[in-house]
Amino acid sequence: MLRQALLAVSRSARAERVISTSPLTRDVVRRYVADDIARTVAELTRRGLLVTVDHLGEDVHDRAQAEGAVRAYLELLRVLPEGADVSVKLTALGLRLSEQLALDNAATICESAALRGITLTLDAEEHDTIPGLHSIHTTLRKEHPGVGVVVQAYLRDSAERCVKLDGARVRLCKGAYTAPGAYTSAADIDRSYARCLRVLMGGTGYPMVATHDPRLIGIAATLAVLEGRDHHGFEYQMLYGVRPDEQERLAAQGARMRVYVPYGADWYAYLMRRLAERPANLAFFARSLLSR
Ligand code: FAD
Repeated sequence: MLRQALLAVSRSARAERVISTSPLTRDVVRRYVADDIARTVAELTRRGLLVTVDHLGEDVHDRAQAEGAVRAYLELLRVLPEGADVSVKLTALGLRLSEQLALDNAATICESAALRGITLTLDAEEHDTIPGLHSIHTTLRKEHPGVGVVVQAYLRDSAERCVKLDGARVRLCKGAYTAPGAYTSAADIDRSYARCLRVLMGGTGYPMVATHDPRLIGIAATLAVLEGRDHHGFEYQMLYGVRPDEQERLAAQGARMRVYVPYGADWYAYLMRRLAERPANLAFFARSLLSR
């Protein structure tokens, strides 16, 4: 219930005006969103962590906004080290205006990234964008085999999707939105996640295990051993600001640990999804408001 309500708030322009203009929100934003991206990436890299950077923004209303997002990514690529990854939301590149526009824009970023030894991963968004996501990923992969895509385990066809994506870089996550017919109970989503992990670890692609859930991290580690994958054969991914100690612990063990770092002014919907994931975050949010 609370999750549904917060996800509804994440789509409300009115709530966005109230919440995002409040100076009181700053501490919460700072926990999850980098304010100086070059400095944040340098600091994480120094601590042995890899990064994937998301220029915040989604659902643009016209071509000019989509072009603005492309320009922001091209500028971002200049400050990222080789081996970094950028996470891209296709609705920020115009997917809801035209699939061709989003494809062309993603190809522009992919080409520039490839010249710098940086990869690109396509985030998974609302359920109506999933067919466009996979169609664009399939086309991009012909020119750029390293382009990655996200699979959301709450979708009932996620394990079949992982089979179809054999050979690709695939980030597996639980899913941060809602979708008709999707799994909703934590147990069903976890079981689906584990099924997907089995397919990805047993396949020929590169699994990116995006979760903070200790049980699923343990299952991923076990499957990697059973399938003969060493530390270079897969990676863990976690969000900036979530379980930083665990991020460092896995990196210290020699695992490839990549932190998803969002930055930019358009943080509202991202932050609301993070609050929806964990009721305790709401208490943190409320405390930081009250302590002012
Ligand atoms: P949960 O069961 O939600 O959490 C497990 C534990 O992790 C919690 O008990 C808590 O200790 C900790 N935790 C989890 N979330 C938080 C939080 N917000 N704040 C503080 N602690 C927390 N979703 C998409 O739909 N599309 C995407 O493209 C996408 N990309 C992602 C990329 C990365 C690198 C990651 C890590 C997640 C991504 N997600 C994406 C979000 C994902 O779908 C989940 O909503 C999110 O990761 C929470 O699920 P969990 O697997 O961590 O498990």
